[in-house]
Amino acid sequence: MLLFDAHLDLALNGVDWNRDLRCSVDDLRAQERALGMTDPGRTGATLSFPEMRTAELGLCLSTLLARQEKEISHSFGWTSPQTCYAMAHAHLAWHRAMERAGYLRSIRTKHDLKAHCNEWQHHPQTTPLGFIQTMEGADPILVPGTIDEFYDHGLRAIGLTHYGANRYGGGTSCEVGLAVDAIPLLKRIEELGMTVDVTHLSDVAFWQVLDYFNGRIHASHQNSRRLAPWQRQFSDEQYKAVIDRDGVIGVALDIIMLQPGYVRRVSERLVTLERVVENIDIIVQLAGNARHVGIGSDLDGGYGVEQTPSDFDRFRDLQRIADLLERRGYSAADIAGIMHGNWIRFFSEVLPD
Ligand SMILES: [Zn+2]
Repeated sequence: MLLFDAHLDLALNGVDWNRDLRCSVDDLRAQERALGMTDPGRTGATLSFPEMRTAELGLCLSTLLARQEKEISHSFGWTSPQTCYAMAHAHLAWHRAMERAGYLRSIRTKHDLKAHCNEWQHHPQTTPLGFIQTMEGADPILVPGTIDEFYDHGLRAIGLTHYGANRYGGGTSCEVGLAVDAIPLLKRIEELGMTVDVTHLSDVAFWQVLDYFNGRIHASHQNSRRLAPWQRQFSDEQYKAVIDRDGVIGVALDIIMLQPGYVRRVSERLVTLERVVENIDIIVQLAGNARHVGIGSDLDGGYGVEQTPSDFDRFRDLQRIADLLERRGYSAADIAGIMHGNWIRFFSEVLPD
């Protein structure tokens, strides 16, 4: 079944981690083992272009991700807004190069999306992976007006923050609200008709974005606080707020967002893919229908197979979510909506003509 994944950090893998995503997952794992890599996520790749084709992934949101950090040599951070801007351009260039090599296809308009879905239906083995460009954390946006430049490069979705606070507001693991520069930035995002990804906002910033921003919103990779009760996850009220604005929520595979009290490199993996389906079901129950939930796996977003449900090995295993939903009694139409249809509907409304 066609799969749509609303959150993949493909360029993080391709650029920052220097992975050749044209290889198989087994080759990526073997290469990093041979190099003796021991950092979290290394040697545990779960995706690559051939693997994603096997998984029937036809569409995704792919990030530009470059977070500013105060400390130098932070493994995931850059030390100035200018460097974040430059790294975002490196990520843009990686996507462009992969388009030229035939692996990716940029989806920027309603027409692009429709044509791509048609082609995928008839030629799933040869159609490139369609991607909608998103940005995870607005750190590369030098001043609010910089958003126009990225829009021209195909950016259609953006989340203001990532971990900690940045120049636009508070993110995961901090309780800081929006900064003054967020107001003109949100205004411009709204004028451009882009969707705001409310994942990774602090609680206070989340409610402020909903107050200040009148455009479309979604939550690309956002699990429930009922399953992993800490601030990275959403409360029922936050989920309902996204549903009330006709948004879609993607469920993620990162076990820190699924298993309570999970400590990286210490805890045993106690949950399975069934837990992901449980999270889907929470959203469906809150909405009263299955139209507001999809997949936002976050796979290989700074972690690997070691930090996923215990019965998950690689990207193709996402297809098992459909089987698990069927076992729970979900209809074929609802399963198709969750696997791809809800995100396609959302972006067919949000993307420009
Ligand atoms: Zn994230």
